[in-house]
Amino acid sequence: MERIGGNAAGNGAARSGGLLSVVLPAYNEEEMVPKTTEKLRRILDAENIPFELIFVDDGSKDATWEKIARECAEDARVHGISFSRNFGKEAAIFAGLKEASGDCAAVMDCDLQHPPETLVTMYRYWQQGAEVVEGVKRTRGKESFFHRAAAKTFYGIMSSATGTDMSRASDFKLLDRKAVDSLLKMPERSSFFRAQSSWIGFQKEEVPFDVQEREAGISKWSLKSLTRYAVANIVGYSAAPMQFVTGAGVAVLVFAIILGIQTLVRYFGGKSVEGFTTVILLILLIGSVIMISLGIIGFYIARIYEEVKGRPKYIVADKK
Ligand code: UDP
Ligand code: MG
Repeated sequence: MERIGGNAAGNGAARSGGLLSVVLPAYNEEEMVPKTTEKLRRILDAENIPFELIFVDDGSKDATWEKIARECAEDARVHGISFSRNFGKEAAIFAGLKEASGDCAAVMDCDLQHPPETLVTMYRYWQQGAEVVEGVKRTRGKESFFHRAAAKTFYGIMSSATGTDMSRASDFKLLDRKAVDSLLKMPERSSFFRAQSSWIGFQKEEVPFDVQEREAGISKWSLKSLTRYAVANIVGYSAAPMQFVTGAGVAVLVFAIILGIQTLVRYFGGKSVEGFTTVILLILLIGSVIMISLGIIGFYIARIYEEVKGRPKYIVADKK
């Protein structure tokens, strides 16, 4: 076969065949499960790609699990895992990867916003020797102005934290068995698939894709859950907020030296600073800097506490 391009020739021999595991986290996706199964089956069969689908029901409240079970009964290549409650997409991704038995495993949303046609391109890259094939967003799809701005800030911080450009990163990726195994060996409880799959290294290849419109159902992200997710990941991958504490400390110190010298000069000059105003302002300023700093440290301590408890990432209630 022709090489598709890029730097993926890597370890020489092109891989022929090879089972592809597709991990599909699903939370309240009863309408999408049959549609996605049908579409993936049609496209992958047409391309002669051996595959298995692994749906992870992330504690859905609708009939998602019944739909998954039905698909499993109809096609032996479809598997399902059901969580005991909603543990979040990250946990679902890792549960799916753990279950995957393929020579390579892809992660994609089960709302078809990640085009299955791109999955075929990713698989071809993998056959050419790539070990981590990342889907990068060409466009971000329809989003509100606020959402776009918040995403930009978040990815700015995450990019500097991980040292790679995360602004176009997505969870749509195909990983070689080696990469999957290294991810599964990471012990941290609060995982961030996007950052971890880039941190592990390996031969990388990028495939641009356009985010599709959601066909049915609604986005599962509320403002609250997105904010919680952003804070957790920033705290998990970056010490930048801690450096803010040091920065604020240095700024207050410089301010203190200047004001201290001025106060002493005035005192010995016989006209010391009059009034409460200065004192009140200083207490307010220093008080808020200290409290914000303690809050930031609190986030990190909470994070350490979570990790130290060593609870499992998720609990499996049922498997098909
Ligand atoms: N998802 C999940 N658990 C959650 C939230 C979402 O498994 O708690 C799944 C969801 O079913 C979908 C994917 O993650 O397959 C992406 O979610 P969604 O489409 O709501 O996010 P968006 O595309 O709007 O970023
Ligand atoms: Mg979506």
